[in-house]
Amino acid sequence: MAKLLDGKIVSKEILDNLADEILFLDKKPCLAVIIVGEDPASKIYVNLKKKKALELGINSIVIEMPSNIAPAQLLNKIDELNKDEKVNGILVQLPLPKHINKDLVLEKICPTKDVDCFHPYNIGKIATGNKPYVYPCTPKGIIRLLEYYDIKLEGKNVVIVGRSNIVGRPLSQMMLNENATVTVCHSRTKKLSEITKQADILVSAAGKSGLIKKDMVKEGAVVVDVGMNRNENGKLCGDVDFEEVETIASYITPVPGGVGPMTICSLMVNTYDLFNLQNRI
Ligand code: NAP
Repeated sequence: MAKLLDGKIVSKEILDNLADEILFLDKKPCLAVIIVGEDPASKIYVNLKKKKALELGINSIVIEMPSNIAPAQLLNKIDELNKDEKVNGILVQLPLPKHINKDLVLEKICPTKDVDCFHPYNIGKIATGNKPYVYPCTPKGIIRLLEYYDIKLEGKNVVIVGRSNIVGRPLSQMMLNENATVTVCHSRTKKLSEITKQADILVSAAGKSGLIKKDMVKEGAVVVDVGMNRNENGKLCGDVDFEEVETIASYITPVPGGVGPMTICSLMVNTYDLFNLQNRI
């Protein structure tokens, strides 16, 4: 039976240490989150981020904008936050309404305040094997979780299902930089299970519940489930058929309680790291 990769335990340990460090600061780090529109899931995520920041002693600013906002107004707000010395990290909650060009918005964030690492400068640094100011939250959380359990990446066959800019693409480059041999799959991949069966470490970030079954996993593989889906009963579940796959994997992340807490943990650590960068500590 697989051992759990427990994101709740690992993130708690990291965040307890972070809270101790923040306690002794005269000036506190500050995270600004912009949310455009009324998407209920986005509102839940933003409130979770705010709650966690406040628990840790990180100042949190949430800027709510109506869904019909003119793109220029959003860009001006980012400009204002870029210039505000009290703000260390800026996050624009995605998705944005269709009339707003997401790429222009993400490029407007100053790279030194790009707390989720979406700016082409930071992503380009990773793509060229260099260090960004901070790493993207979900990939960073996954790598930290594997490190905690002493699961090495060097020389491993990693298969990632999903190529989004938020998870699959940056994770593939970060794992390549750690000397893994990385294969990225997506919706047009042929014979997916033949590829996933080659994985020493299998990461699924497709957003499809029940996608990864036991017969797609090599015995003893490490399985990381990024998916956050609702099943037919409305229950939160990942992409992996947990009951089946835990009988064959060596390690597996639960959903909830695996990658999710690690993502929010990375966001807090990134805010603190940008604070230090901007204050030259
Ligand atoms: P996304 O932008 O929709 O990307 C999904 C990716 O999966 C795409 O590359 C897509 O391929 C691929 N895909 C979809 N169906 C597939 C299939 N049947 N076989 C193979 N590949 C398939 O999603 P995302 O934003 O990366 O998020 C993915 C999942 O992770 C969602 O459930 C999301 O809620 C969750 N998530 C969780 C966290 C966390 O902290 N736990 C953070 C971020 C996201 P194409 O490129 O060909 O369309």
